[in-house]
Amino acid sequence: METISALIDFHLNEKSSPTRIWRVSATSISGRGLFAVRDIQPGEIIFREKPLLIGPTAGKDSSLNICSVCYRPCENNECVCPRGCSLPVCELCLDSKQHLLECNLYKSWQPAHPQKVMRANLRALVWIRGLLLNETQKHLVNVLQANVDPAYQREMLAAASNFHNFPSAASATYEFLFKVVCVLNTNAFEALQQNENAEISLRGLYPLSGIMNHECTPNTCHYFEPGNVMVVKSAKFIPQGTEITTTYTKILWSNLSRRVFLNMTKQFVCSCSRCLDPTENGSYISALLCRKNDCLGWIIPQDGNVLLSDWRCIKCGTIYDSKHISRAQDFTLRIFNGKTSSGSVKDILDFIREKAARICPPTSQFIIELKLHAIWKMTKTNEKFSDLDIKDAIQYCKDILFVLDKLHAGECILKSLLEDEIRKFSGLLLTPK
Ligand SMILES: [Zn+2]
Ligand SMILES: [Zn+2]
Ligand SMILES: [Zn+2]
Ligand SMILES: [Zn+2]
Ligand SMILES: [Zn+2]
Repeated sequence: METISALIDFHLNEKSSPTRIWRVSATSISGRGLFAVRDIQPGEIIFREKPLLIGPTAGKDSSLNICSVCYRPCENNECVCPRGCSLPVCELCLDSKQHLLECNLYKSWQPAHPQKVMRANLRALVWIRGLLLNETQKHLVNVLQANVDPAYQREMLAAASNFHNFPSAASATYEFLFKVVCVLNTNAFEALQQNENAEISLRGLYPLSGIMNHECTPNTCHYFEPGNVMVVKSAKFIPQGTEITTTYTKILWSNLSRRVFLNMTKQFVCSCSRCLDPTENGSYISALLCRKNDCLGWIIPQDGNVLLSDWRCIKCGTIYDSKHISRAQDFTLRIFNGKTSSGSVKDILDFIREKAARICPPTSQFIIELKLHAIWKMTKTNEKFSDLDIKDAIQYCKDILFVLDKLHAGECILKSLLEDEIRKFSGLLLTPK
């Protein structure tokens, strides 16, 4: 514990001080965690952290025309480095120290397509940057948790195939890079950078934040400041000595979605208080409708924290196995996804008003997420809305706030966003047409 604490101090570039309100300690469940040194009030900033490593996510549908140093969209469409490293870089960053280091490293491996931005090479930048860390920083990477999964090599192989001279699989360099990839896949956060007219998704390794353990409704929330600085804030009162937690999933995900995701990406089954309660604090966010003889009662898990639990109708008592539930959930998801991807806001509103309640309970994740989708879309479109539409949107905000409250989400980011929207929508109702 001492080693990691010292390495974290180095990474934060600060000494442990009496004003620091957290400490790293051993936990029984997952090795280590972050704990409150004193009582923490809701809304207090717990810490700010710069990324140890960060780089473009370069997901399959994202633009490759973003500078690999400042992450801004390039002005012209051709922003590959003229020196032949295959990285996209803007004119302002072309001669930066950072790009020169990365440019030389990439060129030393002989890009197969030096004048073309290759998605795999851009996505690889975040872990290739591991090679440019100093010894103390590398040591920190080495002591972070890492699930070693051979499947993680896929993104390495994809990048390697774009170079004539990538480090060989037997080399110490390759071994270290694989370690970085595993650490990233285990710990990385998605950091969104807001540019003037584009939001860029980045993968960031934040070692201190990564030490926080998961809870399905955590006691903190986070956001990003310029420079990709992560700010972790308490969402509720955290008594002295309590573990400080984050969520690796989304607060509004259902029990099954969370369990499948955590099992797949983090290889554990959550047993937080919310998971142990099949009603999820009475929110019934995971409930589905019982179709037996048109019962339409609500089906919920029998055992909240068992991966393949049976589910049970609370009205007629029918038991459903997990396969049936997965199918029912996938089926529902497809219907709702169809609505979100196509359809105007008006279509979505009509769907929520007339059809959604026949497909799943009003408390369900699917209806909540569709309402959320409708709210964000209403704020971004030029469509005209009637007072009735706006009143409904306000009601949807309130419905979601009600669920967040049931889940004890506290002062989370989503709550303040929804409260803002209620104010904006209410303003629209008052403006004369
Ligand atoms: Zn730039
Ligand atoms: Zn270059
Ligand atoms: Zn070629
Ligand atoms: Zn949980
Ligand atoms: Zn039933």
